[in-house]
Amino acid sequence: MDDFSTLLKFWAKILFMNAPLKLLLIVPHPDDEVYGASGTILDFLAEGKQVGLITLTKGEGGRNLGLADSKEDLAELRAGPDGELKKCLEVLGVTLHHQHNYPDGGLKDWDFEELVTVTMQHIQNLKPEIVLTFPPNGSNGHFDHVITHKVVYEALERLNRPCTLWYYSAPKKYTTQIYSQKPELEALHTEPQILRNVTQHIATKLRAIAQHRSQALSTVDWLKVYAERTLEETFHQAYPPLEG
Ligand SMILES: [Zn+2]
Repeated sequence: MDDFSTLLKFWAKILFMNAPLKLLLIVPHPDDEVYGASGTILDFLAEGKQVGLITLTKGEGGRNLGLADSKEDLAELRAGPDGELKKCLEVLGVTLHHQHNYPDGGLKDWDFEELVTVTMQHIQNLKPEIVLTFPPNGSNGHFDHVITHKVVYEALERLNRPCTLWYYSAPKKYTTQIYSQKPELEALHTEPQILRNVTQHIATKLRAIAQHRSQALSTVDWLKVYAERTLEETFHQAYPPLEG
């Protein structure tokens, strides 16, 4: 590589690092970034926009498939420096990531004020155009998802809604099964308004999903119900209201 192209790449990197933050995902678990939003992440990055991720736990409460001997090992496997999440983000090209170590499965017992304060600091520092998180019902009712929703919502309220807020949101045809098992989730359903065709990114998206090896059963369970959702990602815009 000649000096000129090295220099060009250097400046491209500097410019990219300073690009405004288009999208900030705030989620509890390593892998919450990938199933429902990785095609959208790839879209924004391809447009030269920045995408960031805040992961609140190291995922030590998830499945381990015999790949880890303890919760500590699983946390390292999923969210360590050479862990599954890092590899997933390398595949996607996401370089802005902050990993917290709050207890997986225990966010509801953690100091809510601390979680809100930390989240407010991230939003104030990073100034995202859009924040993406879970909807009020946590998509599947998982307590960590529901608490993360409440934390992000509260943080943005206290900051006077400085950005657009998106929720993961599946069309009703995909939620029938979960709502029949947990009817209380249906009352909090949010209808998707933003439908993004991400077919062009399917190979990279599947490769990114596959980095979460320890969650392989979650992946196949998800694919059984939601295979089409690898091709179309759908979000609800909580605010500002969309026209029409
Ligand atoms: Zn999760």
